[in-house]
Amino acid sequence: MTGEKLPRKFGQSTIAVRGGVEPRASGSPIASPLVQSVNFVQDFGTAEGLLYTRYGNTPNEEIVQKRIAMLEGSEDALVLSSGMGATSCAMLALLRPGDHLLSSSWIYGGTRQLFSEEFVSMGIEVSYANPDERRVWRNTIRQNTRAIFIEAPANPTGRVIDIPQLAILAKNQGVALVVDSTLASPINCRPIELGADVVIHSATKYLNGHHDVLCGVVAGTSSYIEEVRRKMMVWGQAPDPFACWLLERGLKTLDVRVKRSNENTMRIAEWLGTRPEISKVHYVGLPEHPDHSLAKKLLDGFGGLMSIELAGGAEAVDRFSRRLRLISYASSLGGVDSLAVEPRFSSHAHMTSEERAATGIPDGFLRLSIGIENFEDIIADIEQALQ
Ligand SMILES: *Cc1c(COP(=O)(O)O)cnc(C)c1O
Repeated sequence: MTGEKLPRKFGQSTIAVRGGVEPRASGSPIASPLVQSVNFVQDFGTAEGLLYTRYGNTPNEEIVQKRIAMLEGSEDALVLSSGMGATSCAMLALLRPGDHLLSSSWIYGGTRQLFSEEFVSMGIEVSYANPDERRVWRNTIRQNTRAIFIEAPANPTGRVIDIPQLAILAKNQGVALVVDSTLASPINCRPIELGADVVIHSATKYLNGHHDVLCGVVAGTSSYIEEVRRKMMVWGQAPDPFACWLLERGLKTLDVRVKRSNENTMRIAEWLGTRPEISKVHYVGLPEHPDHSLAKKLLDGFGGLMSIELAGGAEAVDRFSRRLRLISYASSLGGVDSLAVEPRFSSHAHMTSEERAATGIPDGFLRLSIGIENFEDIIADIEQALQ
């Protein structure tokens, strides 16, 4: 069980700094020691107390598990070796051959591959719902549906899904609602408080935030997390102690990083809206975004991800990207450094140009992940690249 170390009355930033760590005795280090050992001395004649890195029960693993559970407001959480490892084990703990998984069509490319290729070959039925269609969830749920999977906000369009409304449907139907909340982080949204059953993160993104660790998170009830832990152990998806140590350090600044990134992105989105070279700005913080009012209800911040379309189309995006100097052209998101990337060459490369256009990602669409630099410098970089 978690949540006992610091009462929930502490704010998110306090939890991010100290959650899951007991007050330490005089002479103890302030930073958690890195315990880079796979094996630990055991008692004789019992399997009780067997610590092993692959079981996820060694010191650096346990600190981040507790801290993230507190940040998400969940009973328990597990840290895994990647976001994909988290999604795989989270869903394998819910689904058996013959079960049906109903997924949003607005999901990460790797997740789509996992569902459509791996899960289908294991005898799990998978279907995709376009959340824009009215009553789509109610109409596509089946007798054998065991889980609904959504990503919200969705990458790279920032589309938001009405989690509380979907949670009511899921509860009534006895179906688990799983939310990939990577883009929001627990600073901008806590899906479990909104009625979701399971939260997944690619902790590679905001939770760590420094472009130097690959890891993932699953949060939910204690009994469910035990199931996920069993999957993690046998599928070999546990994280390394050093990854957990770095994640713990990254988490300490989660609140300030995410808030700074929220502020920067809002300012940059507003500035971009005034530029004739930009034909469209996709940012859920702007009133013209289709989900702006829903986002205001569900989110505490609009996040650091936005996308732009250039009036000159794909060629103009190519020219613009080559000219960027402060913003690096790189995939991934959610870190302290600002990055730009075209989804057609990264997260959405597996789709055809027409399929992408149908999900709102035409060619000439550039995704920006805004970091924590001074926003004036980011704007200046964009301005010189537009010339
Ligand atoms: C990056 C990402 C993933 C996959 O995470 P990894 O850490 O790269 O395995 C899953 N979902 C979303 C929304 C992501 O952005």
